[in-house]
Amino acid sequence: MARPAVMQRMPQIAHVDVNCFYASAERAFNPSLEGKPVIVLSNNDGCAVTRSPEAKALGIAMGEPWFKLAPRAKEWGLVALSSNYELYGDISARVMELLGRYSAWLEVYSIDEAFLGVKGTPAELVAMGRSMKSAVQRNVGVPVCVGIAPTKTLAKLANKWAKNNPAFGGVCHWDSVPAAVREDLMGRLSVEEIWGIAGRLTRRLNVRGIFTIADLAGVDPVKIRDKFNVVVMRTVLELQGTPCIPMEEERIGRDQLIFSRSFAKPITTAADIGQVMSVYGQQASARLAKHGLQAKILTAFAGTSHFNPKDTSYPSVCVPLPMPTADPVILTKAAHALLPRIVDGIRYARAGIMVTDLRPTGNQAPLSLFENPYEERHIGELLEDVTRRYGRGSIGLGFAGIRGGPDWTMKRDMLSPRYTTHWDELPLVKAA
Ligand SMILES: [Mg+2]
Repeated sequence: MARPAVMQRMPQIAHVDVNCFYASAERAFNPSLEGKPVIVLSNNDGCAVTRSPEAKALGIAMGEPWFKLAPRAKEWGLVALSSNYELYGDISARVMELLGRYSAWLEVYSIDEAFLGVKGTPAELVAMGRSMKSAVQRNVGVPVCVGIAPTKTLAKLANKWAKNNPAFGGVCHWDSVPAAVREDLMGRLSVEEIWGIAGRLTRRLNVRGIFTIADLAGVDPVKIRDKFNVVVMRTVLELQGTPCIPMEEERIGRDQLIFSRSFAKPITTAADIGQVMSVYGQQASARLAKHGLQAKILTAFAGTSHFNPKDTSYPSVCVPLPMPTADPVILTKAAHALLPRIVDGIRYARAGIMVTDLRPTGNQAPLSLFENPYEERHIGELLEDVTRRYGRGSIGLGFAGIRGGPDWTMKRDMLSPRYTTHWDELPLVKAA
C-alpha cells in the first residue's frame, strides 16, 4: 500500500480542530480553570454543550441539563459557564486568520475546525502541522490537533488519532504512519466514528457485516453505491485515498453557519469586499430563515494568500448584533464592519462570514418590528458612522443603544467577560 514517491508531492488536506473549543477559549483567559472539570452551557444556561476532558471523566454527558448537575457541582469542583459566543466568535476568527497564513485554500468548516490544502514532503507536512499547532497555542492561546492526509475523510480520522493518542503529539500525518499501524487502528474503530456515517446508517452497514472503519475501507465502492447511495460511496473512496468531497462554500452546523471562499482572482478594494459581504449577508439571512433560526453574533474575515508574503493582511471583526436576527439588512450591515479594516491595493485571496449564537425564531420580543421601517431613512448608515467614530454601544435604536447590548432576554448567570471585544472587559495583567 506504499504510496509512490511522486504521489507524496500531491496536495494533501490538513484538518485542524480546537480541542474542547468553548472550554479552551474560556481557559485561555482564565488559567485557574486549567485541570478543572469545566462545562459550557447552552443559551439560558440550559444544558452542557462543551465538556473539558475532566468533565467527561466525571461521566457528564453531552446535552445533560444543568439543573441535574448543579446540586453536585460543588462536590465535584465542577465549573459551569454560560455560553459567551462573542468571545468564541472572536477567538475563532483569530484561529482562522492564523491558519489562513498557511494556505490560500482554507475552508472554515465550523467555529473551531478548518480544512487546508497543503503541499510538501512528509517531513515538511509534519513540520507544518507542528508549526500550526504551536502558532495557535502561542498567539491565540487554545490547543489544536492537526490531521494531514490525502482526503478530507482521512484527515478528520488522522485528527481523531492525534487527539486520542498522545504518541502523535497532536499532529498525525496519515502517510507517515506505518500501514500496519493504520490498518490496526482502523480495525479497532467502529464505522460510526467516521465522518459522515450517522447512527441509522451504522445499523444498516452492520447488517451487511461492516462494523469497523477497516471493513468499510475494504468494500467495493460501486457495490456500496448500489446498496446505499453516492454519499457512502464517496466516504469509501475517500477512505481508500481518492479525494471526492469538494471544498464547500456554505456550512450549517449545530452552533453556527459559515460562508467563505477563496477567490478565483484576488480582490483589491474595500468596495469589492463589500459586495462579497453583501452576498454572504443575504445568503446567511436566507439560510437562517430556512432553518427557522436567528443569530446574535456575526464574525466577518478576509485574508491574503500565503503565496504573497509581502503585503499580508488578515482583518477580522466580531459584531454582536443588537438582537437575534435573520434580517438581511442588519446582517449585511454587520458584515460591512469589516470594510474599514480592508487596505485598498492589497490582494485579498479569501473572505467569509460566520453567524453564531443561533436560536429559534420567535423566542424573543419582536423588537425588529420597529427597526425595519427606519432602514429606508438611512438611519442605519448614520448609526454606523457614529459607531465607527465613537465605538460600539455609543448610539443605537432602542435597546441597541444600551452599553453592552440587551441581554435581558437571556439568562447568563455564569458568563465570563468578553475579553477580546470590549474595552471595559479586557483581561487585567497584574505584575507581582
Ligand atoms: Mg473541536
